Formats: sequence, structure tokens, C-alpha cells
Amino acid sequence: MKEEQTIPYKINLSEEEIPTHWYNVRADMKTDHRPLLNPGTGEALKQEDLEPIFCEELCKQELNDTDQYIEIPEEIRDFYKMYRPSPMVRAYNLEKALGTPAHIYYKFEGGNTSGSHKLNSAIAQAYFAKQQGLKGVTTETGAGQWGTALAMACAYLGLDCKVYMVKISSQQKPYRREVMRTYGAEVIESPSEETEVGKKILEKNPDNMGSLGTAISEAVEAATTQEGYRYVLGSVLNQVLLHQSIIGQEAKKALDKYGVYPDIIIGCAGGGSNLGGLMSEYMKDKLNGEGNAYFIAVEPASCPSLTRGKFAYDFCDTGNVTPLAMMYTLGSQFIPSKNHAGGLRFDGMSPILSQLYHDGYIDEARAVEQSDVFEAAELFAKTEGTLPAPESAHAIKVAIDEALKCKETGEAKNILFGLTGTGYFDMAAYQAYNDGTMTDEIPTDEDLERGFESLPKVEIND
Ligand SMILES: *Cc1c(COP(=O)(O)O)cnc(C)c1O
Repeated sequence: MKEEQTIPYKINLSEEEIPTHWYNVRADMKTDHRPLLNPGTGEALKQEDLEPIFCEELCKQELNDTDQYIEIPEEIRDFYKMYRPSPMVRAYNLEKALGTPAHIYYKFEGGNTSGSHKLNSAIAQAYFAKQQGLKGVTTETGAGQWGTALAMACAYLGLDCKVYMVKISSQQKPYRREVMRTYGAEVIESPSEETEVGKKILEKNPDNMGSLGTAISEAVEAATTQEGYRYVLGSVLNQVLLHQSIIGQEAKKALDKYGVYPDIIIGCAGGGSNLGGLMSEYMKDKLNGEGNAYFIAVEPASCPSLTRGKFAYDFCDTGNVTPLAMMYTLGSQFIPSKNHAGGLRFDGMSPILSQLYHDGYIDEARAVEQSDVFEAAELFAKTEGTLPAPESAHAIKVAIDEALKCKETGEAKNILFGLTGTGYFDMAAYQAYNDGTMTDEIPTDEDLERGFESLPKVEIND
């Protein structure tokens, strides 16, 4: 087993190997995904339509489907140097515990204070807002990782940061809120009385505990009604997948050093940004016929956008103030049950990932149940040492399942998954798991039908 010894536990890259460009998968997609639409007119949105909501440069990135690589500004690269390159780890101990011949690798993005990959895009978005001379940005956060990442980036650049935090998350994770406030962000529980959308929702139901979709509506309204502010979003958008492409570029550089090409690439999928990032160079290979990794997107059974959703034009928020995006969705009025993987509780999915899945380039989507996910998290924590975020544990669960299949067939497949974050702020979830009180609320077909009823009627002209 010579090869076993030559691959280290951690494959290190140097600072110089941090990518200099973001990879734009849209330039290589065979069928590009359909454009964002104006919900009023049904027309494709152009740069000038997006500019009241998003920063100018980010609008360009959002609409860019021609440039394969886009240079990363020096100042953003300098920020990346504080916590990148992120580790690529061979999960020897997990392999041993499973008794599998498979080789399991994971790219760990939790090594910064925000505890997740979201910082990769937060610094880029804050940078372009600053460059435009804006006062600040508004956003929403569910589980809190995105809000924390954005607060960090804004503090670094001296920008104002307003975060609409889903009320249930704010109450379950008060310490997340304090991290954001420590970095100088203003945190507002959503639904709030500060926006028209929030007021309307509270009028209907004062006990509404919020959802990501509602918080998005509020943050968009706050950005568009205040001078010098724009809205930023931590997932779903093309620009976010663009920024996250550094994960996959680093992953490929590291594995290439040992001649390893993943057979299977696994990522949890909330809005699709970490999987979009991890897949980047490997998806490029696949689209260009130069590689054939098998991609699996993992989602919670309680919020099954890819596995049970519809591929349709939909709003990206509950208040229906955003443009329409063509994606796998459960409907903007679908409110997922309170599961513990907060970062995976969004009813829609990145239009890029949606189209790639629709076209078969993402081979499979798999929905997994919460207690199985935490069982996998526990095994991973015990063997590999890192306490994973519940979101990340969805990918771990499927990596373990695939490794166990290899045990049956005797195949030594290379499995790569994204370990997107740490779970220190998710101890309420671990507590429920340890106490044996964890349940999984899987929506019935009727629940899903109710969500689908909210899909806007849009003419699609192919
Ligand atoms: C936000 C988040 C996710 C899910 O978001 P994607 O955009 O699908 O990547 C997964 N893991 C962690 C730790 C997160 O914070």
C-alpha cells in the first residue's frame, strides 16, 4: 500500500496557490440557465434593472455568461490569505472506522470565525460595495453564518452592515447575533416592524417566527428604500457561485499533486453555493468532456427542493419583491418545518445548479433525514476530530453511504466532499440529538402542493 503512505492527512497548498481568478461555469455551460425575469412584465432583467438592488460590479458578474475566468482584485486576495488556502484532508480515520477501501477527502471551509465558506463571497461582495462608494449593505441571515461572514467583511472594509435575522434562528442562536454585533453589524429580528413587508406579515400573524424568504424581502426593501445601500445575498446567485469557485480550484490543485481525481463529489445543497464552488474545476472538466466525476447534491428531507420540487420560475422570497428565477423550488410560500440545518432551509436553489441538474451534469440529488445526518456527524466528530455544522453533516452522511457501498463492491473510489463549516453554534441541535428528541418533519405531498400553488404563472418561450 505504498500510495496510502504518500498521501498525507493534510495536503497543504502555499499562499501563492490561492486562485488569482474566479471560475465562471456559465461560460462553459451547454444550455445556459434562463435569465432573471421582471415579475411585472415577464421580461429578462438587464444590468440597469438590477442596479437599484445590487452593486454595479456584482450585477455584471451576475449577468456574465461569457468570461470563463474573472480576476480577483488584489485586496480580496489579501483578505483570503488570512484564512486560505483551506485544508484538504484525507479522512484516514473515518475510512478506518468504516472499514472501507474508498479514499475519502474533504475540503474544510470552517477555519475562520464565521465558521463557514460564506466568507469567500462576503468579502467579495463587501469589496465591490465599498468600491462603488456605498455607505453599506443589507442582507438576511438564517442560521447566522452568512450574517457573521458579512459582518466580518464589512468591519474589515469599514462598511455599514444591516442584517435581518430569521427570528427563530436569532432566538435559538443568540451568540451568533452577538458575534455579528461585535463586528459592528446591526441585527434586526425578522419579521420586523421596520419594513412594509415585515409589518404586513406580522399583521397577519404576530407570532410568525420568520423564514429566510421573509428576511430576504425585508433586506431587499431596506436596501432599495435607503440612500447609499444595496442588498447582498450569501447563496443562490450566480455571483456567489462565482466567488465560491476558489474552493474547487484549490481542491483540484491539492488533489492533482497526488494524481487523485475524484470519482464522486458530494456537497450539501441549501442555495447551492458550496457545492457550486467545490465542483468548479471538476464541472468544467465534465462540461468539456475532460473528466467524469459523479456529482451528488444532498438536501434535507424536510426541505427537498431538488428531489421533490418543480423546475419553474419563482420568486426568491416570501414577500415576492425579488425578480423571478428559473430554479428547482418548493414555491415561495413554502415554509419548511423547523429543522436544525438552518443553512439548508431555503425553498429554492441556485439557477446554475438547477440547470446543471436538469441537464444531467449534476448526476443525483439525495434527500436525507435529520437523525441519520446527526449520526454521521457524531461518527465524523469522533474519528476526524472536527465537530461539523449540521449542514455539512448532510454531505458527510452521503459520503459515508457511498464509502459503505465501496465496502460491498470492494472498489477503492475517490470520494470528495465539502465540509462547509463547524457546528459550535448548533449545540441546540446536538442537544436534541443527544437527548433523543430529534424529529424530522417531512412534508406530505399536500404540503408541497400548497407551496406549488404559490408559483407565479409565467409564459416560457423556448
Ligand atoms: C449556508 C451554509 C450551507 C448551505 O448553503 P449553500 O449555499 O448551499 O452552500 C452549508 N453549510 C454551511 C456551514 C453553511 O453556512
